[in-house]
Amino acid sequence: MDKFFNSVRLNSDLCKGCINCIKRCPTEAIRVRNGKAVITKEFCIDCGECIRICPHHAKVAIYDQLDLLKKYEYTIALPAPSLYGQFHNLEDINIVLCALKRMGFDDVYEVGGAAEVVSELSRDYIKKHREKWPIISTACPSVVRLIRVRFPNLIEHLLPIRAPVDIAAVLAKRKAMKETGLPKDRIGAIFISPCPAKVTAAKNPLGNQRSEIDGTFAMKEIYPVLLPYMKEVCKQPEELAISGKIGISWGSTGGEAGGLLIDNYLAADGIENVINVLEDIEDQKFEHLEFIELNACNGGCVGGVLTVENPYLAKVKLKRLRKYLPVACNHLEQPVGKEALWDKPIEFEPVFELGESIEESIAKIAKVEELIEKFPGLDCGCCGAPTCKALAEDIVRGVAKETDCIHVLRQYIHKLSNDLSMLDLNQGGLKNENRKGTDSE
Ligand code: SF4
Ligand code: SF4
Repeated sequence: MDKFFNSVRLNSDLCKGCINCIKRCPTEAIRVRNGKAVITKEFCIDCGECIRICPHHAKVAIYDQLDLLKKYEYTIALPAPSLYGQFHNLEDINIVLCALKRMGFDDVYEVGGAAEVVSELSRDYIKKHREKWPIISTACPSVVRLIRVRFPNLIEHLLPIRAPVDIAAVLAKRKAMKETGLPKDRIGAIFISPCPAKVTAAKNPLGNQRSEIDGTFAMKEIYPVLLPYMKEVCKQPEELAISGKIGISWGSTGGEAGGLLIDNYLAADGIENVINVLEDIEDQKFEHLEFIELNACNGGCVGGVLTVENPYLAKVKLKRLRKYLPVACNHLEQPVGKEALWDKPIEFEPVFELGESIEESIAKIAKVEELIEKFPGLDCGCCGAPTCKALAEDIVRGVAKETDCIHVLRQYIHKLSNDLSMLDLNQGGLKNENRKGTDSE
């Protein structure tokens, strides 16, 4: 698998080259070239901001289709806690879980249940690794990918515990193998995802060699399918839920940090806030904190681009649902062992660096600064890059040219036309001289 695989793509037939997306991308991964947007996959962190902003719906996320269920003999739905925040007047999580079974899954295993196990493991890890404070959460794959490419000094602060959905897949398959006697490869664990970053993480996990997740459905695709089944089962739903308050809370910002039962933490959401916090951690502003929870989407997973409900309403709905639940229903007695920890260290991928050595980078930075002086500093985006600096960097990388800037191009044309006029005048003068010479003969 390509280590820079990403789930956010362009539907070039719909793209109008309007440059809205280039301005919004937090990693400056998009350029407009020949009238169409192009994503540089090495820079993209699958945050979904470009999907949100594109007025022409040209940015899309890829995920699996429902017919994937046919590929396996036994299928298990892994619903993220944010799914419960999508429905109006939902009183009981079991209604959603039973509807998942009615729509075709053989079983369900709540990601919230595994999240409670992760909370317990995290509490233990944080206590034992004071030297790594502030420890940064790794549940949001966009944040982990951002740190991997842009914040090398923060890699050692990452919490090396698998995301709840990965642990849910391990536990769900183990349970299914025991109950059905089927081998693992005939059991499909399918995640109901709120965002493209988690689709990517399931296909190409960071921190782990492989994931037990066999497919990912988008929450927005599952939502309309579930509604009629929810009506059918709402009177007497089967008891399937395994999450307590802590597990459900993971669906929105502050839920993961709340499950640590500490006060000394920070929880931020929204990709711009996340970047600000990461810069502040680099500047050692938060050394006194034990834990930092970061979510790329506004409101946390409820704000994922594959959800249907307003994130703030979804957050209130989750709060209401967890009101009467016990604090936690899942503990470390669950047989999770080594599968819960990362087995592949994350390495810095310096995709934003201009050169391969420090000397080369310094020389290229000087060239970038020289180029910036030539540009008007308007950051207009007409060149297809989000800022004048981004265009200068593209030129230094050899993927753009100075005349992509319309202001430079105008000056160039102006100069060319002056030069042509001068040439014309000179030639005119020369002709007159020649004529004079001929007349006098
Ligand atoms: S916002 Fe980006 S992807 Fe959408 S039409 Fe404009 S240039 Fe194309
Ligand atoms: S998903 Fe995010 S990082 Fe990737 S191109 Fe879109 S806005 Fe940029």
